[in-house]
Amino acid sequence: MTTTPANRDETRIETTMNGQPDPTDTRHARIEAAVREILDAVGEDPDRDGLRDTPSRVARMYDELLDGHENDPDKHLEVTFEHVHDEMVVVRNIQFHSMCEHHLMPFFGTVAVGYLPDERIVGLSKLARVVEHLARRLQVQERFAYQIADAIGRVLEPAGVAVMVEAEHLCMTMRGVKKPGGNVVTSAMRGLFRQRAATRAEFLTLIQGQ
Ligand SMILES: [Zn+2]
Repeated sequence: MTTTPANRDETRIETTMNGQPDPTDTRHARIEAAVREILDAVGEDPDRDGLRDTPSRVARMYDELLDGHENDPDKHLEVTFEHVHDEMVVVRNIQFHSMCEHHLMPFFGTVAVGYLPDERIVGLSKLARVVEHLARRLQVQERFAYQIADAIGRVLEPAGVAVMVEAEHLCMTMRGVKKPGGNVVTSAMRGLFRQRAATRAEFLTLIQGQ
């Protein structure tokens, strides 16, 4: 059993724009025009001092926030090692920030990942990189959880994978639907975590420790 907090500084991924359908300039121009239109539509003056550079700032920000759309999350798991024992591996408290695809607003929180190795294991920080990668696309929390589980399942072919995501959604808390700090919890269980209650319970106990 291995439990480790993930260091966020180690989990940042490169923000190059390889593989994007539009050249960067074209994409920026389209986003800038769209943001300018929104500012105008909500009754703002897009040319006033504070807003003049907002469309280009938003365009450049999306380069970073949404660069996980086009690239392959499996690449972070390519380097694997033969394992020497078959106990559960758990990485908890992996911090993430993503964007809700329903409102284009942030949701953020923590992910816990567990798996039961079959023949291969992966460096622990790589699990956090997969989380970070999949956060950088428009998401819904349920799909975020199972995309993480599926990437680990695809590459490592473990006996089971468990993913638990706990997050606050600004589209809910800023609109008063839920109190600030009210969290949404979703999970994805595969293999033995789905089939065996005891395995699931062991995972849940490990991720609840401080
Ligand atoms: Zn939302």
